[in-house]
Amino acid sequence: MKIRHHIFVERQTKYSPDLNKLFCQLAKTCPVQMEVNSAPPPGAVLRATAVYKKSEHVAEVVRRCPHHEKTQETNNVLAPPGHLLRVEGNSRAVYREDDNTLRHSVLVPYEPPQVGSECTTVLYNYMCNSSCMGGMNRRPILTIITLETQDGQLLGRRSFEVRVCACPGRDRKTEEGNARKQEDPVRPATKAPGPTKRSIPPPTETSKKAKTNSSSNEEIYTLLVRGKERYEILKMINEGLELSDMVPPADLEKYRQKLLARNRKEKDGVSPGPKRGKKLMVKEEKSDSD
Ligand SMILES: [Zn+2]
Repeated sequence: MKIRHHIFVERQTKYSPDLNKLFCQLAKTCPVQMEVNSAPPPGAVLRATAVYKKSEHVAEVVRRCPHHEKTQETNNVLAPPGHLLRVEGNSRAVYREDDNTLRHSVLVPYEPPQVGSECTTVLYNYMCNSSCMGGMNRRPILTIITLETQDGQLLGRRSFEVRVCACPGRDRKTEEGNARKQEDPVRPATKAPGPTKRSIPPPTETSKKAKTNSSSNEEIYTLLVRGKERYEILKMINEGLELSDMVPPADLEKYRQKLLARNRKEKDGVSPGPKRGKKLMVKEEKSDSD
């Protein structure tokens, strides 16, 4: 089962299909439409989580900056003040902090689309600017939306990058322009799904210019794991792979170079520094197997 989400383009929220990126303003309504290709079992939920996009920040929990966290708000009593991502106008929204990763997420019960519509719409708010000091601090984030069964089994997922800023329309144009400039000379193979598809929402994750073999990776498998500890290990590995999938190929190469440079430094120098090695090795393995 896949979630296909489309994102309305409204005055204050600008979604760029080319960049798979939402540009929006602080605390403004961002309607996200989810489309599933078969009805999930009763009790299914839609979970939204924000994570940092870059590998060097990915382990850090995305939370609001100290200034905004302290700001008094009366419009949403359900939401804990430290949560960046909120659901608007849904009294059944539940805010969670993961016991292990400490990541924040917000869940709403999955509701079938209204009659005459193909999509379920959830209204999200981002409660900090991307530039907030002591919070996101200019680090790009992704929003990951997952459709899960009542007991947490994954049924589908989609993700998109988010920038919360004062001028979403302007920033979207600028970034799309930059991306096109970078792409044009070196990407003959991706011409077809290129700039012309802008008016059409991407049908699935696979239409993204990411990886050519990603279509087979879209299928969701369930793994039964004995023992909580083993489960947590496998979950961590899977999360690492999921996140590395989201890194654009160009950035991936940059990380690889950085990693090589660091490994060399550690070998030459005296620092053994194995503390962060484990996580990075997972990434390296993944990139090699591509
Ligand atoms: Zn803030």
